[in-house]
Amino acid sequence: MKVYEFNVKTKLPDKLRPLEQIAHNLWYSWNWEARELFRMINMELWEQCEHNPVWVLSKLTDKDFRRLVGDPVFMNVMDNVHERLNEYKMLPKWFDLAHGGKREEGMQIAYFSAEYGIHESVKLYSGGLGVLSGDHCKSASDIGIPFIAVGLLYRNGYFHQYLNSDGWQQQSIPYNDFHRMPVTPVKDANGNEIYVQVRIAESDVNVKVWKLEIGVITLYLLDTDLTTNIPQHRSITAQLYGGDSDMRLKQEIILGIAGVRALKAMGFRPTVYHLNEGHPSFAALERIRLCVEEGMNLRTAAEVVKKSTLFTTHTPVPAGFDVFSFDQIKKYLGPIFEPSGFNINQIMGFGRENPFNESESFAMAIAGIRLSTFRNGVSALHGEVSRQMFKNLWSNALDNYVPIGHVTNGVHLPTFIAESFKMIYTRYLSEAWYYKPYDFDVWNDVEKIPDNAFFDAKRKQRERLVIFARERLKKQVMKRGGTASEIAKADDVLNSDTLTIGFARRFATYKRGYLLFMDEERLAKILNNPERPVQIIIAGKAHPKDDGGKEIIKKIFHICRKPEFRDKIVFVEDYDIEVARHLAHGVDIWLNTPLRPMEASGTSGMKIAANGGLNLSILDGWWAEGYNGETGWAIGAGEEYDKQDYQDFVESMELYDKLENEIIPLFYNRDKVGIPREWTHMMKQAVKVCAAFFNTSRMVMEYTDKYYVQLHELYKDISFNGFEGASKYLEWKENVISGWDSVEIAESGVQADSIEMGGYVTFEAKIRSPKIDNESLAVYAVVEFDGESGVLKNPKFIALELAEKNGDISTYKAHFRIDNAGKMKVGFAAVPFHKYLKNIFELNLVMWAK
Ligand SMILES: *Cc1c(COP(=O)(O)O)cnc(C)c1O
Repeated sequence: MKVYEFNVKTKLPDKLRPLEQIAHNLWYSWNWEARELFRMINMELWEQCEHNPVWVLSKLTDKDFRRLVGDPVFMNVMDNVHERLNEYKMLPKWFDLAHGGKREEGMQIAYFSAEYGIHESVKLYSGGLGVLSGDHCKSASDIGIPFIAVGLLYRNGYFHQYLNSDGWQQQSIPYNDFHRMPVTPVKDANGNEIYVQVRIAESDVNVKVWKLEIGVITLYLLDTDLTTNIPQHRSITAQLYGGDSDMRLKQEIILGIAGVRALKAMGFRPTVYHLNEGHPSFAALERIRLCVEEGMNLRTAAEVVKKSTLFTTHTPVPAGFDVFSFDQIKKYLGPIFEPSGFNINQIMGFGRENPFNESESFAMAIAGIRLSTFRNGVSALHGEVSRQMFKNLWSNALDNYVPIGHVTNGVHLPTFIAESFKMIYTRYLSEAWYYKPYDFDVWNDVEKIPDNAFFDAKRKQRERLVIFARERLKKQVMKRGGTASEIAKADDVLNSDTLTIGFARRFATYKRGYLLFMDEERLAKILNNPERPVQIIIAGKAHPKDDGGKEIIKKIFHICRKPEFRDKIVFVEDYDIEVARHLAHGVDIWLNTPLRPMEASGTSGMKIAANGGLNLSILDGWWAEGYNGETGWAIGAGEEYDKQDYQDFVESMELYDKLENEIIPLFYNRDKVGIPREWTHMMKQAVKVCAAFFNTSRMVMEYTDKYYVQLHELYKDISFNGFEGASKYLEWKENVISGWDSVEIAESGVQADSIEMGGYVTFEAKIRSPKIDNESLAVYAVVEFDGESGVLKNPKFIALELAEKNGDISTYKAHFRIDNAGKMKVGFAAVPFHKYLKNIFELNLVMWAK
């Protein structure tokens, strides 16, 4: 049977046209009124269409149109929402106020990520990394930076999870019908759709470019599922993180290489490239190739790319990185790069710790690091971990000065704060919390919120969460074929006034989802205390190939079914942004038990804090920064153990202790009107301290100030006059590298009348550097107080000035005020200096005083 298929587009009457515009801008994902508008159309339809406005519109009939147009309340809400969207677009934003003129200079940031989590209806994400990229885009829009994003348009979403009657995770794959998504094909000036081509092994792949609007910024999505492609190629963008290593490699070729080509085809000329995690690192290689095609030599091209790239790593262990073999790179990158004159060893070199070590594979993260000027981890602790992890690339750098910094993650507050709290914040903090969430002063007014209003809002949200969990449970039981009485019982689980603990995350073994259940008897006592009951809501997926993770879920599933836990613990299946939002809104305590330092940042706890929830967590990732004694509780004091069994035991005991002795009493310690005053105080501290800092507006501003603007300026400098700056810099660099052995600190010393706090010392170093001029050198006194004798671990670098030059000896000096007491250690170091070098040890060259 032959079946013809057509997509019949909805044609909205003119009066309802604004609906189309609203449905096609993901602005609705953080504006409740906009979503409410589609719910108003038809609540059941809204649920059926999985909260997807475009899908809702596609289901409407002429009869619906007439009903809506004739409904003045609806039309009024629609006009209001439409007006707000247009207002939002026109609003003057932070970037043009803080960095006026940069846009006119052509500053353009291109952000590359393998996944984007924007709203539950747009299934282009699997978890934390995606939600972070989505939030990055939303805040880029809010603060108005010149920003475009690039990703893949997956034919299938990340799997839906459901548990069978034995609690074993089952997976079903959602199909993304692009006609029902807020995506549209990108067209050129003549109205033709834009396609780019990339060679994969023996043949070319056509890649279609789609766009998705997120506020005022655009996310461009690449799609290979085209009838003009052979089946193997059509399936490249089939599934996020689907398939084997070859498939991953092909996807990353599309993301990085087709991504750069698509930007070019659309006429963009980005000055800054932000590679989010290793997946898009091929973008840097493609840019090099393009420069080489235009006649630049390979070294200069690599330098140009490096000087305009930022690389962000999210992984705390080397095993988390994508690595490809020589044969894979040869097979897939060869046909793309060899015609442009590259050989495979050159390509391999970019992805190796030691470029010349032929036994090393190609690591995407190493390529990202080698081909960037700035690199960062995603929390202070993860910055440290990353410096350790990659220190072999800078063998001469002090560990703490390995040139990898950090920008701590955040969350997009308007997306994750509940309506009840939004209203309270707006009343007591003004709308500034929404427009300037990065302004700490704004959040101080949290203290003004009356305790009862705040605690009541939490109660309301807890109640909504309980209702949501019951509904979900009912559906789950029905799907598993539960009995009528089991289904009816779902209405009785949980209670809106009970202290509620949330635990939701990927069930990877390092997250230790089992820690809370180490002593079931003790847990049962805690939950079932009639005066001070506690309940737990759990959610999370295990990676389809991770049987260890599935075992943990199964174990928890069976615990939930025991009589002593049945009403008190609910496992909500299919953790996604919707579930995350409900949990963030309603839980009192957010539990997180990773094995430190395996949680690079984590962001779910931040969503909780912004809604007045308190974290109870291992001091890992962001919580090592967010915890201050009043924002929640710490498990442990940041120890790392050798024996995991022992650690699990110690930390689970501490977890129970904290619950029994501190958390539960505090929550139930009510005053005459039923308010837990000390608890409410902590809720406010969580909002004041955490929401103010751990939001993506602050985060993207930090990226902008620390990295984007600098890279833009650097790129402008080096590209001037046919990349003259880049060639000159390269010449300089090669000179410095070849002449570096001639640098010598002939003499150095510290002079002081008396060494005491508040006194001054003079640092002096005499340098001989026959092959390198003074302008190309920076000389430092490297000062540290206390710590182990004879070693400098985390010193300060005090720059010395050239004081005199006598023959081949240059004398450098600085006066230094001593502000510390204790053991003062001083070393002297000379390093290369150039205004394009953004880190002391960037070139891995240093001469220490002997
Ligand atoms: C916020 C969020 C995450 C991040 O979770 P962490 O455990 O904090 O890393 C993951 N998945 C979803 C759906 C989220 O909304």
